[in-house]
Amino acid sequence: PQIAGLTPYVPGKPLSELEREHGIREAVKLASNENPLGCGEAAQAAYRDCASELARYPDGGAFALRGAIAEHHGVDPAQVTVGNGSNDVLDLVARTFLQPGVESVFSEHAFAVYPIATQAVGAAARVAPARDFGHDLDAMAALVGERTRVVWIANPNNPTGTWLAAGPLRAFLEGLPAHVVAVVDEAYFEYVAEPDYPDASRWLADFPNLIVTRTFAKVHGLAALRVGYGLSHPAVAELLNRVRHPFNVNAPAQAAAVAALGDRAHVQRSVEHNRAELARVSAGLQALGLDAIPSVCNFVTVDLGRPAGPVDQALLREGVICRAVGNYGLPNHLRISIGLADENDRLLAALDKVLAP
Ligand code: PMP
Repeated sequence: PQIAGLTPYVPGKPLSELEREHGIREAVKLASNENPLGCGEAAQAAYRDCASELARYPDGGAFALRGAIAEHHGVDPAQVTVGNGSNDVLDLVARTFLQPGVESVFSEHAFAVYPIATQAVGAAARVAPARDFGHDLDAMAALVGERTRVVWIANPNNPTGTWLAAGPLRAFLEGLPAHVVAVVDEAYFEYVAEPDYPDASRWLADFPNLIVTRTFAKVHGLAALRVGYGLSHPAVAELLNRVRHPFNVNAPAQAAAVAALGDRAHVQRSVEHNRAELARVSAGLQALGLDAIPSVCNFVTVDLGRPAGPVDQALLREGVICRAVGNYGLPNHLRISIGLADENDRLLAALDKVLAP
């Protein structure tokens, strides 16, 4: 019954299909918060080097990748759980800690996988109202009770681009009862430059029930390979790894992720590009008279003052693919991923055209 009640996550259509359907050429895809610079050379080379080994199963324990992640964060490899994208880790959390009769808590407008993962295992979702589009930690704390087993927090959040400062987030974690696991989802961690923005992975020693998730799909530009990870107390990781399928991260993904983690120059380049273009796109939206939610991510979500679905469709006919986020409870908002400079120019011009009276 819980599966029958699930609202399916509707992925975007393939680019080639959209181009064919709408008679457009060389569409610009600004819909999935990918890295417009792609991945680094080192990751590409590591990926290619796997081509001669495709008959072999990947390392089921992801020894090299977990070692590289552990070194990067200054934790023990026993604290790392790898996933087929960080979505897989979120799903492992749900399968490990949730079941019918218990609850998870998350915010309105929070990442779409939290309700899906919760409901898929038959647990109940408690949704806290948002504050200024972002997480209201007091409202979330008020929903935590006897039946709560997992609290999901995206910092920063998709699709709003909002973020939580260290002080309030830490205080929230300190207030959680011992029977609750807190997931701090840091998919967009590298993009955030605010001085008060916390690296929750530094708090693992203080919170035995904390799970921090990261991904290689965003700043590292490896979305196609599906690789992410969770960091936690070793006892929590041990439970997650019991549930994990041993070959959930394939060999080219493991190799490319290790290389990407070592390629700090590519991360730096990607972050700098995003900073400059996010500012430019935000200013462009403002010049169009639109109200955007201030974002620290590689996307910006803007209030169109009218239902976003038809505008999204009109943009598509102009060859610009964005994401209307009505499924996140924001029917008038459009999420725009930051692309290359000329892609962003096309977006702003197309938006100007389709919004014209
Ligand atoms: N968390 C958040 C907040 C996200 O926006 C995304 C990607 N859309 C993910 C997790 C999952 O990323 P992936 O599975 O590609 O690692």
